Amino acid sequence: MDRVRNARHFAPRLQRWLSGSGELTGARAAPQNKADGSQLELFAQDYFAALEPACAPPSAPQALFKAPPPPRVALPVPPIVPGAPPLRRIQLGAHAVDYVLRRSARRSIGFMIDDDGLRVTAPRRLNLTEIDNAIRAKQRWIVTKLEERGERRALRQKKPAVQWVDGAELPYLGGAITLRLQPAARSHCRYDEQARELQVGVVAGLQEWQLRERVRLWLQGQAKALFAERMAHFAPLLNVSYRSLTLSSAGTRWGSCTVGGSIRLNWRLIHFPLSLVDYVVAHELAHLREMNHSAQFWATVAAVYPDYDGAKAALRKLSQELPVIFPD
Ligand SMILES: [Zn+2]
Repeated sequence: MDRVRNARHFAPRLQRWLSGSGELTGARAAPQNKADGSQLELFAQDYFAALEPACAPPSAPQALFKAPPPPRVALPVPPIVPGAPPLRRIQLGAHAVDYVLRRSARRSIGFMIDDDGLRVTAPRRLNLTEIDNAIRAKQRWIVTKLEERGERRALRQKKPAVQWVDGAELPYLGGAITLRLQPAARSHCRYDEQARELQVGVVAGLQEWQLRERVRLWLQGQAKALFAERMAHFAPLLNVSYRSLTLSSAGTRWGSCTVGGSIRLNWRLIHFPLSLVDYVVAHELAHLREMNHSAQFWATVAAVYPDYDGAKAALRKLSQELPVIFPD
């Protein structure tokens, strides 16, 4: 590969990515299983070639005479995962940004931003200083994307959450169902499909969190049954078979799929119309044919779900509008 030529071509390419939607896809993008996310993909070799000549410092993070603006919004922070290595922290302007660092055998350094904050995947040969310099070089893009995520989250949390009282409405398969609380000697949870009512027996002393938990379990049960049914519909159409289906509840990551055929679907999809459930199911199953987001992958999706672009947009919009129903 011609490094000099690459360095020269690097800047305009980067410019295009930065001015775009924040998502980069292409033949050289690494495989990833996200239905939604912002990713900046840089090839380490190109990146360091672009930094030459070495007489200039690798980055100039902040002008000394200008105080960084105060943070506008709390940035999303990666969740603490038991057993995972501790998060790393870097100061980017006014923000102390915590990020997950993953090492991989690949030659590229990748930045992924979603509701779980910043994730950096770096080749093993890069040391921590080089990684931090690479992050600083992209700090405007990173902070802007993190702020967008933070603002969206703040907006979601401002919406009135469900009041856990008789008559409350819960989003269900694109419509609403009504919560009916019925005093009862023994607690129960029944769905009246005709009335579109979820009837919950409330025993004396039932706490709100217990009621929430009951409804959550019911929704998760519905989700599991529906997802299994839709998987059984789409798998033969795509001529694939999967090994396992489990429910997840992570942020706005709607689905994932491993090479081994383990598919995870977010149970909160049960709030959305069936057509969007179908899109995520078709998307994840299509990964069993193409473990990437190449043109071939999207052609595979389109064969069983033609309007995937419409579904993607609708999913993004609805997930931003979804009120916080289960705050924990
Ligand atoms: Zn995918």
